[in-house]
Amino acid sequence: MQISVSKLRAYSSCPQKFFYRYIATAEAEFTSANLQFGNAMHHALSEYHQSLNTMGSNGMFEEFLKYWKAIVADCEQTQKCLRYGKDKEQDLIDKAINLCVEYVGQFKDVIPNSPDDVEVLFEVPLYDPLGGFGSLEHTLIGKIDLVANGCVYEFKTASQTPSQGEADASIQLTAYAMAYHYLYDEVPEHLYLTALVKTQTPKIVTLQTARWYKEFQNVVDMGIQIARAIEAEIFYRNRETEWGCHNCEYEQTCLGFQPQKERFK
Ligand code: SF4
Repeated sequence: MQISVSKLRAYSSCPQKFFYRYIATAEAEFTSANLQFGNAMHHALSEYHQSLNTMGSNGMFEEFLKYWKAIVADCEQTQKCLRYGKDKEQDLIDKAINLCVEYVGQFKDVIPNSPDDVEVLFEVPLYDPLGGFGSLEHTLIGKIDLVANGCVYEFKTASQTPSQGEADASIQLTAYAMAYHYLYDEVPEHLYLTALVKTQTPKIVTLQTARWYKEFQNVVDMGIQIARAIEAEIFYRNRETEWGCHNCEYEQTCLGFQPQKERFK
């Protein structure tokens, strides 16, 4: 079985939501504007990096806007609700402009040389090479945002500044470190979590962290346990999910779910 890093995170957050999204492929009740903002910004970053940083902030913003407009048009066409948080459409667009200017302005500080690789796809065994522990039947797939100078970079948009603890504990970064080890035959020198923070005054925050072999066990262990839970069709509701059920695009479906009494006999 293949499992992606995003599926690992989705299952950990709420197995029932994972079920609706990936197993039942249920129709989402709305599209989150904040989530799509993150996707659009990811797209703009990728285009900027692939242009070998020759694009400039205007070009990067154009890429953002192209992606964003396609989302808005798709929602209009399919009559799907694009649900905004406290930032409405123009607020998000204004913040995107500022973030592109900030990112391009600071880029040389964040990544001193040109990237070696952008959007590195991987499929690696859920097997800890040092501990000799894991499963060769389960593989982890994903995409590393950027590799440069022996370091791994992960980008995210956030509504508040992430803490150092978040970077140090991120299972996503641990997974990328393990994948990097498989791909390049060494552990990355550093891992960077670069957050595009859309506070009132948008800013770029880069946190440095590292991983060593023994931490790969966490990903292997978690990956195999979750893969086996999915295979055994174990899907339970986590109503204390990080983002809250009110932000869940399957909340109405979930609220209508009636537990079968037989299950609890
Ligand atoms: S409403 Fe809450 S418990 Fe139900 S699927 Fe969504 S996140 Fe999970």
